[in-house]
Amino acid sequence: MRVEYDYDTCIGMFQCVAEWDAFERDEDAGKAVLADSEEHGEDVFVREVPDDAELDAKFAARSCPVDAITIYDDDGEQLIP
Ligand code: SF4
Repeated sequence: MRVEYDYDTCIGMFQCVAEWDAFERDEDAGKAVLADSEEHGEDVFVREVPDDAELDAKFAARSCPVDAITIYDDDGEQLIP
C-alpha cells in the first residue's frame, strides 16, 4: 500500500495527525508533513505504508477534509478517497 500526500492542497486542519503518526504538524507552515516520504513532482510526497499502519493510513486519508491524502493498493489502484 502506498500513500500520496498533496502538500499544496493541505489546509492544516491536522485531523490526519490524530489518525496516523506518520503525519506530523508543521505549525509554522500550517501544513502536515509526511515523515519518511519522497517528493514526486511538485509538492506531492509519496511513501510506502507499513502493513501494521494500513488502517491508520486509511483513517488519515478519510479524515482529510480536502482530500489531500490518497491511498493506493499494491496494484496502483486508488482506494481512498
Ligand atoms: S487532514 Fe488534510 S488538510 Fe488536514 S493537515 Fe492533514 S492533509 Fe492537511
